[in-house]
Amino acid sequence: MNFLNVAVPANNRSTQLPFKRPNSVTGEPDVQFQMFTNTDHIAILMAALLKIEERVIKDEKVLRRCNAWYEIMSRDRGRHKKMLSFIKTWQDPATLITFWPEPTGSSHAMTSGTFITLSEKIFKRTDAVLWTAGTLMHELAHTAGASAQTTDAEDSLEFCGFDDVRTKGLPG
Ligand SMILES: [Zn+2]
Repeated sequence: MNFLNVAVPANNRSTQLPFKRPNSVTGEPDVQFQMFTNTDHIAILMAALLKIEERVIKDEKVLRRCNAWYEIMSRDRGRHKKMLSFIKTWQDPATLITFWPEPTGSSHAMTSGTFITLSEKIFKRTDAVLWTAGTLMHELAHTAGASAQTTDAEDSLEFCGFDDVRTKGLPG
């Protein structure tokens, strides 16, 4: 994961931004996938990516546990039926992190294939960096194939060094 995985105006992708998708969990019609333009948001996102590197990538023990959970999750329950470790997911150049301005519903983020969108609500929190990192970890689990019908995505926070932002038993 690096700056190329973040949707900013310089990013050149075959999928054109912005686009909208219905929310597969709540049914809300307008989940938005836009480019980041606000430098405060981009700074928070960069700090969140660094936090994930510190807590997961650079911690051998956490990385091993996280990889193992991703392999179980993607192999047994994932929609891709293809085994994916966390590190493979983290390094996937297809992942694109986008911005969802002013959502009206209860959702904080959404994933569509390898496109993740993070809501503006997250960036307004006082603990925005930690919350953004935890939310990203949840959404990355979906890109690896975690079903929205189980607690697998949220459970990955426990195995991947973000137990402090985990909401136990949260489905979706
Ligand atoms: Zn989810």
